[in-house]
Amino acid sequence: MGKVSLVKTHRGIKEGLSDALDLIGGLGCYVTHGDRVMLKPNLNGIEGCTNRQLVESLIQLLSDFSVRKVFIAESTFGDKNATNMFFHKTGYSELARKYGIELFNLNESEAVEVKVAKPLLLEKLRIAKEVYEADRIINLPNMKVHYATGITLAMKNLKGLLVGNEKRHFHEVGLDKAIVDLNNTIRPHLNVVDAISCMERMGPRGGDIINLDLIMAGEDAAEVDCIGCAVMGYAIDEVRHLKYFIEANGIDIGKINVVGERIEDVRHPFKKVTMGSIVPGKFKIRDKNACSSCMNAFLLSCSLLDGEPARFADVYMGSILDESETSGGMSIAFGNCCPDDRAFDIRIRGCPPFPFALKESLKRDADQGPILDFASR
Ligand code: SF4
Repeated sequence: MGKVSLVKTHRGIKEGLSDALDLIGGLGCYVTHGDRVMLKPNLNGIEGCTNRQLVESLIQLLSDFSVRKVFIAESTFGDKNATNMFFHKTGYSELARKYGIELFNLNESEAVEVKVAKPLLLEKLRIAKEVYEADRIINLPNMKVHYATGITLAMKNLKGLLVGNEKRHFHEVGLDKAIVDLNNTIRPHLNVVDAISCMERMGPRGGDIINLDLIMAGEDAAEVDCIGCAVMGYAIDEVRHLKYFIEANGIDIGKINVVGERIEDVRHPFKKVTMGSIVPGKFKIRDKNACSSCMNAFLLSCSLLDGEPARFADVYMGSILDESETSGGMSIAFGNCCPDDRAFDIRIRGCPPFPFALKESLKRDADQGPILDFASR
């Protein structure tokens, strides 16, 4: 089994990164001179993104190492415009300009259809072609809780390498096993987790930011995630994609060699996402293939409501409607993906909808009656 390092950033982020890498053998174990290196941060939002200074420090270390090329690649939820907006708002466009490196918006990338190694669920995946133009992939997730997968760390972060509707397809077929298929197909050469500022209580967006001032590094994404789980106070069984991956690949967690800080000295039990305490009892969620952003936006929207809504409601998300028996309440279409040729009592537009839109549209429904088309953004 490999090593996973845990290093506090008290001496500075670049120093912390260097120490974290040295503890697992040094950058030279993971890249060679002349490599084309892809950096894959998490930029899926404005908060809860990979620390820019951490990525900048890595770019500097790689350039000292004389790699041939460094580039950053990511696709967020929504379309290429959403990804471009997050590149801009998170300061990554500026970072790329500063170092003269390319920033690839994988939401406009060509897909390479790849056969899945040891499939659990999917035979093929559509991966961005830039992945296959890199000699080395360095995965740079941010440590967060996630409403659907428990946590999001190294394994989950690879989802941003998928192209087009593939990300939503993962939700449709079963996210956890699809993530295992993805990780059995693409193995980053190095994983560096930004646990400097993390997100708890709600995620991957809209939660509370907490500072652990910690960097984790390791060669194997699943091993890094196992140690990340322990730091966050999660049992492996609570993170199904990790559990399935461990079972499929025979990983012996007890043999992971943790170097640097001891887990017990940096452990911070994260506040978990508890759906039951967020979604009103009168709402029935009917989601077959919505991406995590719509569900995340819906959870945020629910947390902004003033108590229980007046009426029962079936809340639809995604392009494929759940046609099973309804609750008999009103119908709400949440997000642009809900089909336009179907009538709903309330339609809330947006990709994803603005969090206050649900509250506002319910208020208008109560004041003015149903059949609303609420364009939130
Ligand atoms: S409308 Fe919702 S489900 Fe559709 S792409 Fe946007 S965020 Fe995802």
